[in-house]
Amino acid sequence: MTNDELLGILLSRLDEFVIVLCDTSGNFTTWHPGVLAQFGYTAEEFIGRNLALLFLPETRNDGRVERELATAIEQGRASDTTWLAKKSGETIWVEGVTIALRAPDGALLGFGKVLRDVTSRLRSQQDLESANERMRRMTHELSRSNEELEEFARIASHDLRAPLTTTRWLADLLSFRHGGELDEEGHTCLQQISRSLERMTGLVDAILAHAQVGQTPIGSVEETDTEAAVAIALENLGGDIVMSKAAIQYENLPPVAIQPQALTQLFQNLLGNAIKYCRPGVAPEIRITGRRESARCVFAVEDNGIGIEDEWKERIFLPLQRHSEKGSGSGLGLATCKKIVTRAGGEIWVESKVGAGSTFYFTLPISGVGDGT
Ligand code: ADP
Repeated sequence: MTNDELLGILLSRLDEFVIVLCDTSGNFTTWHPGVLAQFGYTAEEFIGRNLALLFLPETRNDGRVERELATAIEQGRASDTTWLAKKSGETIWVEGVTIALRAPDGALLGFGKVLRDVTSRLRSQQDLESANERMRRMTHELSRSNEELEEFARIASHDLRAPLTTTRWLADLLSFRHGGELDEEGHTCLQQISRSLERMTGLVDAILAHAQVGQTPIGSVEETDTEAAVAIALENLGGDIVMSKAAIQYENLPPVAIQPQALTQLFQNLLGNAIKYCRPGVAPEIRITGRRESARCVFAVEDNGIGIEDEWKERIFLPLQRHSEKGSGSGLGLATCKKIVTRAGGEIWVESKVGAGSTFYFTLPISGVGDGT
């Protein structure tokens, strides 16, 4: 078999393509199995018809055919991806090229046309685009509803403060002015009211602090002095530190790119927990370390407290997840830490041994990469 014959066999098998010839006016002079497979025309229906046959009815007479042939004559070829019509009327997205065929002396002999149906490629691209668009809309919607929720929590907790303060004030007044008239049960009730109010105030403050992390900027272009942030956190925890006889060590903590208030809050929550979750009769010993690791800094807050069971090591970072009844926590402290660290572009995790202590690790960028908003 000659190579020409083999090429003929190859062409006849390629029915995912349409490979045909036209005369100089653009009338088909050959047929190819792809014409039937792709467009539904037999050889009898096809040969002799103008290539306008394949165009959409509404574009057949708008000069497109002439322009395509003129481009092929001028530039040697005209390629295009466009909608064409099958015999059934169904439209398909087709990639095609029309090549001017010339004799050695340059005389135009006709045109060769190769077409390929790429509708499925377009569909998958459209599917991808619409999936991306859906995802973009969902993310937008999610962040909007998160913002609304945060705003709601912020307003609700803010507005709850006033009646709480009044109730507290009234309870104090009752105790001060009418304490003498109360019997033992009355005093116990007043103490309980006072404890509940304290717990409620703590919860409201924690909700407000958690909501505010979403409202205030976290990232920072300037680096924050970590040791200064720790010093403020220790000052805020002064009473607890004295009461618990906690020993807290730190030195050479590298500066990081995060807003100072957020960094203070982060350390305050972790140190507050390290003090609160100490072992009975064992004074808290807490060590804070920090080391640079390429563009980030890894901090560790290590305690000698009660420790945390493995099954709780991830859950404790979710809001309102407390696994210990110790202390009067809100269950929001670590969730707020996680929110701060995540917004700053870092991570937080814990390693712990029950009865021996816990180490909370977190990473923060050295140069601003968080949401910076
Ligand atoms: P809260 O302390 O207000 O309950 P947190 O979100 O700060 O809430 O902590 C969640 C839970 O994680 C706590 O209830 C406690 O059980 C556990 N936990 C946190 N820090 C420590 C720690 N240093 N040692 C042992 N348990 C801890």
